Amino acid sequence: MNDSLRSLYQEVIFDHNRNPRNFGELERCNRHADGYNPLCGDQLKVYLVVDDDDVIEEIRFKGRGCAISTASASIMTETLKGKSVAEAERYFASFHAMVTDSDAPDDAIEDLDKLEVLSGVKSYPSRVKCATLAWHTVRAAIHGDKAATTE
Ligand code: ZN
Repeated sequence: MNDSLRSLYQEVIFDHNRNPRNFGELERCNRHADGYNPLCGDQLKVYLVVDDDDVIEEIRFKGRGCAISTASASIMTETLKGKSVAEAERYFASFHAMVTDSDAPDDAIEDLDKLEVLSGVKSYPSRVKCATLAWHTVRAAIHGDKAATTE
């Protein structure tokens, strides 16, 4: 990654951290879960409205954590809003492969778009947990689990 790309990515992360999208509680949610990353102390709660066709109609989050965990949650909500639960699973697997620098699954999503800004965390194993916390939490919510942890 070259320097100008890296600083662009950092700017996007700072912006999402300062001004997180889809932040706050969602009263009429039908799925929710708590996420906790004990390594860093990041805590968040994810709220979803999943409709009868398994489409994520609404998604919000709240909580407090480091810049990476907050920015990742913010970008995740923008990515997953309007997607089906099956697509959300594919995004999770593709994103997870990107930040852990492991092989992408066969049905990986090629263009991760905004999620690319978090690709730099793969050089920092402890930061990977910050970046994936929101995703573990949204998966827990989708599967009906009440809590997720990165441990
Ligand atoms: Zn963190």
